[in-house]
Amino acid sequence: MARSTDVLIVGASFAGIAVAYSAPPEKRTLLIDRKTFPNTPSTGLITKTTLDLMSSVFPFEIPLAKHYNDMKLIFKGIGEVELHSDEPFMYLLDKEAFFQKALSNLPANVEFIPRCTFTGLASDWAVLSCFQDRIEVKFETLIGADGAFSRVARSSGLGTVGSWLYGYEWDCYAQNVRDITFIIDPAIARGYGVWAFDNGSTLSVGCAAENALKRGQLALISQEMLDTDCEPVKPRGGAIPVSGPVNKRCIDRILLVGDAAGFCGPFLGDGIQTAVLSAQCAANALASKGSICRVYEEELKAKQVHQYLNQQLKLRRMWKHISGSQQASRLLMFVIRKNKDNMLQQLNLLKASPGALGHVLLEMISAMFK
Ligand SMILES: Cc1cc2nc3c(=O)[nH]c(=O)nc-3n(C[C@H](O)[C@H](O)[C@H](O)COP(=O)(O)OP(=O)(O)OC[C@H]3O[C@@H](n4cnc5c(N)ncnc54)[C@H](O)[C@@H]3O)c2cc1C
Repeated sequence: MARSTDVLIVGASFAGIAVAYSAPPEKRTLLIDRKTFPNTPSTGLITKTTLDLMSSVFPFEIPLAKHYNDMKLIFKGIGEVELHSDEPFMYLLDKEAFFQKALSNLPANVEFIPRCTFTGLASDWAVLSCFQDRIEVKFETLIGADGAFSRVARSSGLGTVGSWLYGYEWDCYAQNVRDITFIIDPAIARGYGVWAFDNGSTLSVGCAAENALKRGQLALISQEMLDTDCEPVKPRGGAIPVSGPVNKRCIDRILLVGDAAGFCGPFLGDGIQTAVLSAQCAANALASKGSICRVYEEELKAKQVHQYLNQQLKLRRMWKHISGSQQASRLLMFVIRKNKDNMLQQLNLLKASPGALGHVLLEMISAMFK
């Protein structure tokens, strides 16, 4: 079977759906996903900046499950510090409700085909396998929103994600954690850690590690880290790209957005905001009359996507060294304690405006002498 479209979007998670909503309405757009229902492994924690961004892209209220004002930071074997923010510093997206709303309110120019996999390119055509049918699609522009191991990137010769963490999350029927707890333990992941939070009905536990983990290890993690004897329920996982932007993300009429382009924070492991931002940039490039790749790069620059990710790369390198040394971790904990009432807002400020790093560091250092 053969058909044609102006825009073909591969992947209907945060990045793909955001392109579908932002693409010019006169472009016939085909959105596909290999799953029946987008089911990203993402925890769905977002900041106010991301929430505002999503509210500006999607014409419906963004469904939230919970918000958080407090966070406990535990340096395993060293100590802990409680952080507080008067305003909520983090929101938990109700992912299922979000994707349901997003797919049932798609703009009139967008057609969504679930259970449809992009398998490769055959000269000018994209080859799809949908409900076991082979479909060849002639497209004007192809958008790869297909995550960290993008097949669009591999089949078009674009850059691919160089390194990633193995991210896991599972539910746990225990109640000994309130708000958000983050545990830094280099034995599990240098450069990341274990998180747990009350999601409103159960405890969500997650971790990001440099190696793949087995189910039994997940149970051990909840036991050792959270002092909670729970069998992991619904374990899920995915790759968290930590190598920063891929070096070639656009060629002729094919471009990559979101995780496929490596647009995920290498330090915080946050990719929802950069997925949506890069989708907006791609949509603006689609609307322009100029070279799509040039406009896309200009838009990414204007929205400070690279600035944020490069800063996150630097923070990750620093953090890797610090979390591997007891002395440096003690010093860091001292700095964080001194900043405990504004640390969470400072982190948010960095997400909203990456250029504020110097100012934030100065504020943190001066707080040490108060
Ligand atoms: C455990 C974990 C927790 C995380 N928590 C957070 C968090 O709290 N906050 C945050 O901001 N970020 C978080 N992230 C990162 C975030 O999930 C990603 O950055 C974000 O989902 C990227 O969105 P995306 O649309 O680019 O890609 P993805 O969400 O990976 O979606 C890719 C989509 O493409 C589809 N697809 C793949 N290949 C094909 C194909 N060949 N044909 C058709 N469809 C295809 C997939 O089915 C999928 O729906 C987390 C990641 C992990 C792994």
